[in-house]
Amino acid sequence: MSARLIIVGPPGAGKGTQAGRIAASFGIPAISTGDIFRKNVAEGTPLGVQAKALMDAGEYVPDSLTNELVKSRLQEPDAEHGFLLDGYPRTVGQVEYLDALLTEHGTAIDAVVQLVADQDVLVGRLLKRAEDQGRSDDTEETIRRRQQVYAEQTAPIVAAYGERGLVVDVDGLGGIDEVGDRIQTALSGRGLSATV
Ligand code: AMP
Repeated sequence: MSARLIIVGPPGAGKGTQAGRIAASFGIPAISTGDIFRKNVAEGTPLGVQAKALMDAGEYVPDSLTNELVKSRLQEPDAEHGFLLDGYPRTVGQVEYLDALLTEHGTAIDAVVQLVADQDVLVGRLLKRAEDQGRSDDTEETIRRRQQVYAEQTAPIVAAYGERGLVVDVDGLGGIDEVGDRIQTALSGRGLSATV
């Protein structure tokens, strides 16, 4: 069935993994703006050249560029009957742009899946991962900072969709299948059932 979804979740909550699973089960593309930017950087496209310095500095790519990128991606045939956005919208301006774009096509966002997890558990998980992978620059301080930045930046976006009753909170702690099942159950409770 068609489903126009957004997924948000703190670093370490397995958002990318769950995004892939939801997209596969609904038969819709998972669209990650971060992945698209990274691909453009790797290929040295004009967009990639513009985005690289900002990304390296940990800053956002301007809304004008990001919105255009999403517009053209959503015009591709595979997104006609639905999509799952990951990493977009990230600013209130992007929320407004997406609203206008979808309204133009007579569609709208159906739900925003928010993975929720205890910060201390996530920090512990990310610290262990950093240790296992020898990433010594991922200290507890930087990991906690990233969690804080995430919380601050996501709050207005979630609030905007929350006002419309579109936010579905899902407990993000547990095995991949367990969390995946929770997401499916929560979405089907809203009349959004996977086809596969
Ligand atoms: P991510 O993998 O989603 O963390 O994205 C990596 C980087 O791409 C971010 O740090 C930003 O520089 C850029 N980026 C991704 N999505 C967006 C967005 N929606 N708005 C602005 N910049 C973005």
